[in-house]
Amino acid sequence: MIEKTLILIKPDGVQRGLVGEILGRFERKGMKIVGMKMVHINREFAEEHYPKDMAKLFGKKTLEGIKEFGLNTAKSEKELGEKTWEDLINFITESPVVAVVLEGVHAIKNVRIMTGSTSPHEASPGTIRGDYAHVSMIYSSVTGTGGRNVVHASGSVEDAKREIALWFKPEEIHEYKRADEFHTTGR
Ligand code: UDP
Ligand code: MG
Repeated sequence: MIEKTLILIKPDGVQRGLVGEILGRFERKGMKIVGMKMVHINREFAEEHYPKDMAKLFGKKTLEGIKEFGLNTAKSEKELGEKTWEDLINFITESPVVAVVLEGVHAIKNVRIMTGSTSPHEASPGTIRGDYAHVSMIYSSVTGTGGRNVVHASGSVEDAKREIALWFKPEEIHEYKRADEFHTTGR
């Protein structure tokens, strides 16, 4: 049940000076930082982190959002998805991100819940996206600004494995005991 998960403090979070605030939340929860680095990724790396097939899902959501807000578009679902994905790649490469591997019991689920819903306008207060962002993914798509939601967190066990291996070499992941570990885990 002890898992590792990847988080990224995205370019908006770093530029807004939220690194310490965000890491503090995870530390206080008892999630152990076992890997950490600041990286300004290039497009090729960004395309590995956010594979192009994501464009298909983005297309459907973007088209639904356009209809919901009574907007018009001459673009197809495929074109809309590709544009949203392109905006995401531009956003994630615009300045450095802080990549962190967190470890803890059910770390993937714990961290996803603390991160909040993808679209900040639907993210609950108390979550990172809910407390530090307010735009919607449809606003980001329509304005071409990239989905600025402060953090990334691995979505599943498979994603966490793939993403940690992409961002970190095995020797960059550390093992140590935290002073409060007995109290947070009982061991
Ligand atoms: N994203 C976007 N438009 C969308 C959906 C997602 O720009 O319609 C961006 C946003 O930054 C999000 C990332 O793409 O965090 C990855 O999308 P995913 O659906 O995996 O959301 P997450 O797992 O980050 O909550
Ligand atoms: Mg995801």
